[in-house]
Amino acid sequence: MQHLVDTTDFSEAQIERIFNDARAFKKEMPPKLLSDKLLITLFFESSTRTRSSFEVAAKRLGASVVHLDPSKSSTKKGESLEDTFSNLCAMEPDGVIIRHEYNNTPRKLADKELIPVINAGAGQYAHPTQALLDYFTILEHFDGDIKGKTIAIVGDIVSSRVASSGIRLFTRMGLNVVLVAPKPFMPEKGLPKYEHIHEVIDSVDIVMSLRAQLERHKAPIFEDYEEYAKEYCITKERFGDREILLLHPGPVMRNIDISNEMLSDPRCKVLEQVKNGVFVRMAILKELLLK
Ligand code: ASP
Repeated sequence: MQHLVDTTDFSEAQIERIFNDARAFKKEMPPKLLSDKLLITLFFESSTRTRSSFEVAAKRLGASVVHLDPSKSSTKKGESLEDTFSNLCAMEPDGVIIRHEYNNTPRKLADKELIPVINAGAGQYAHPTQALLDYFTILEHFDGDIKGKTIAIVGDIVSSRVASSGIRLFTRMGLNVVLVAPKPFMPEKGLPKYEHIHEVIDSVDIVMSLRAQLERHKAPIFEDYEEYAKEYCITKERFGDREILLLHPGPVMRNIDISNEMLSDPRCKVLEQVKNGVFVRMAILKELLLK
């Protein structure tokens, strides 16, 4: 039984196989490979893209999906998460897709070895399917040749599980990663760090902009995000005519993370990320459930 708690759970050969499948699925929808499978989703935090993307991916492959709404479940009556999980596993689904505010929840549930657990976002620690779809989008954009390419991650890096998983995956795959953030958003990582975008803009091939994770800040970090935007918003003025691939995991805070104008610029691939997310998740479900 294999789980996906972080991208480190996959070998490089597996990632290659998943991406080959995702590419093939993007060209032509496959037959219903998972028509005898049933997945349960358990999202303890809000989600727009990830939950619907998993559901679309599962249904494209013919699998059934049952959503449990934790706000109406017995965890609200005092049942522990482990007990809720064991009860769901007793119904013999083929996998559980979970999002939770704590970093270690998916690993703790996976360690029970009851069923494949797929992490759809855990605290500030990991969001492996987002990292994989981001990397897939980068590879596709550069036709597989990422040698010597540099990605700048810009924004609230310290609170972002997307950045955390992304940094582990991108560095493993040989991308150069640089971090651009104001001090309160900068993590303790052994990577090149900058406070201003203009310091790196001429030497990067990819910019990944991130939302300020307000829900994870114990106290407000910036009073005024319009002031923050003056330094960190990705605008046409900042990009100029440089050929830079612009990514963002969503939700985008318009004119704070990325300007309206840049969101409709052809260099911005936010919707391509969303589109690729379905194919990558289809390939991941196939990899984990058809063993
Ligand atoms: N959707 C991503 C996540 O769940 C990014 C974000 O919320 O800013 O982590």
